[in-house]
Amino acid sequence: MNILVVNCGSSSIKYQFIEADSRTTMARGLVDRIGMSGAVLTNTRHDGDVIRLTGDILDHAMGVEYVLAVLLSKNHGVISDKSEIHAVGHRVVHGAEDFVGSVLITEDVLQSLRDNIEIAPLHNPHNIRGIMACRQHLPDVPQVGVFDTAFHQSMEPAAFLYGIPYIFYQKYRIRRYGFHGTSHFYVANRIAELLERPIESLKIVTCHLGNGCSMAAVKNGASIDTTMGFTPLEGLLMGTRCGDLDPQLILYIMGKEELTLAEATTLLNKHSGLIGVSGESSDMREIEQAMDAGHARARIAFEMFCHRVRKYIGAYAAEMGGLDAIVFTGGIGENSPKVRESVCSTLRFLGVDFDTDANAQGPKERLITRPGSHVVVGVIPTNEELVIALDTMHIVRGETPPSMKHMKRNRQLDAVT
Ligand code: ADP
Repeated sequence: MNILVVNCGSSSIKYQFIEADSRTTMARGLVDRIGMSGAVLTNTRHDGDVIRLTGDILDHAMGVEYVLAVLLSKNHGVISDKSEIHAVGHRVVHGAEDFVGSVLITEDVLQSLRDNIEIAPLHNPHNIRGIMACRQHLPDVPQVGVFDTAFHQSMEPAAFLYGIPYIFYQKYRIRRYGFHGTSHFYVANRIAELLERPIESLKIVTCHLGNGCSMAAVKNGASIDTTMGFTPLEGLLMGTRCGDLDPQLILYIMGKEELTLAEATTLLNKHSGLIGVSGESSDMREIEQAMDAGHARARIAFEMFCHRVRKYIGAYAAEMGGLDAIVFTGGIGENSPKVRESVCSTLRFLGVDFDTDANAQGPKERLITRPGSHVVVGVIPTNEELVIALDTMHIVRGETPPSMKHMKRNRQLDAVT
């Protein structure tokens, strides 16, 4: 089954065209600068053919039109008719408590997504725009929503509630949701495959370290805790986001600096994290370069970053009552031997027999602990698009996708008063 996987940002559409049964990516690309001057579409076909188009792409609907035109193009395309697109799978950031797994997008689902805009104002509007654009150009093709939050809906109330008056959960659904769910799901299952052990028998900590960073405790195949919370701001130090902090301090700074709500939001989301601490860069490569050149605050930012990852590994091992594997993924997790080595430097007591050589180089997907290590550490390139394509295929066929196998029940607390 041929699936068009779509991930819409505010001014971009990332896409892949995947033959899901054989797990083959036929084409992948990016439409960037939508609604701005000099919009660009770059498409790479499975055989390496690359095409780059520039023009005025006014909105997401026009972006989808361009994508379809490229996929259908005689010289650079992969299909000869729209009917060869059997389904569209959309990455949707926030499913709140409404979605514990992927769903066929119906009018009711769209309404729920609109209702959730209030708690996901930065992401869900673009995702909805993408869905509407695909509906416009592919009216007869089934569309499926795959949620970043769904994998973490297996968390228990003790992990997902905040220590604030319960009324705010009841009134506004303020709780921890977690994000990057498709990535955590993919790498947890992949390490189980590599270990040739059923995921139902494993305690895994997954570390998705990119521009946004989060970790998850995956016990017996289900997420039981994760570092991001009500929004993707909680938890680890990130490129521009602060992660965990004492909530009182933001009120203090707002008072001292006379910040508005919008200014405070920007401070925590855009000017904090690696860039805020180092004053140098939000990009881990540049942080490492600056640190090597003797930049003191870049070193502090690097150490803070690794400190938090290390801390959560310990916390999650305690929560799960043991640890079998740690997985690193995302731009930093996949590409920074320095970060992985620093994080693992104190983990020998847990049974991590770290292999410095394997960490330094090797295939993109590999283990970086020595054979016989009690806890295995792996580097696994994430593949969220594949998860979206497979979920879409199963949903369209009326089957339960593997991503929902361990989702026994929705943990929301409606019954509790
Ligand atoms: P996003 O979360 O936007 O998808 P990525 O997963 O691509 O981002 O991660 C981007 C981060 O990965 C940046 O901080 C970048 O510096 C970092 N990164 C990429 N390659 C390397 C590398 N070789 N060494 C260290 N960090 C790297």
